[in-house]
Amino acid sequence: SAPLARAESLILEIPDYPSPGILFRDITPLLADGDALRATVDALLAPFAGTFDVVAGLEARGFLLASAAAYASGTGLMPIRKSGKLPRPAAAMAYALEYGTAEIEAHADFPAGTRVLVIDDVLATGGTLAAARELLTGLGYAIAGTAVLFEIDGLGGREALGDPALHTVFSS
Ligand code: 5GP
Repeated sequence: SAPLARAESLILEIPDYPSPGILFRDITPLLADGDALRATVDALLAPFAGTFDVVAGLEARGFLLASAAAYASGTGLMPIRKSGKLPRPAAAMAYALEYGTAEIEAHADFPAGTRVLVIDDVLATGGTLAAARELLTGLGYAIAGTAVLFEIDGLGGREALGDPALHTVFSS
């Protein structure tokens, strides 16, 4: 569609951010455009209508898309946070970064079997989303799918995730 083509043109490529050799995809111009934002959120949700009970978003840019997706689909929202940010006891999952490790957490506020659509902005190596899926299945939830705004090809993210229902709106 025209708004979706426009949305793609609003994803900027920023060389050497946050460190030399990294080509960072900046989605803030897309978020700034109302038609592009709506078309993108609709496209993220398109394959999953009626298949999920809640949308999980990854801190921090995943929150922006997941909350819009939850509102648009009339479901609840589950923030998956970096460790140490949640006020109540939470399940945690550690994962490897290029240098060191990171950890994400979620409250166990949903009944076992809750169907979760997991949303993030960018898929790179897949480490973040793989950890999110492991965290959610460990809590007894069912993964309805994984939806990502932008897939960076050539970093093995899709393979690392191993999710046949991975849905990405844009890639390069
Ligand atoms: P991965 O775990 O797949 O290697 O990295 C994905 C995570 O890092 C996502 O949560 C995403 O927000 C962030 N990320 C990695 N590369 C980029 C990028 O080029 N642009 C943006 N916006 N986020 C990125």
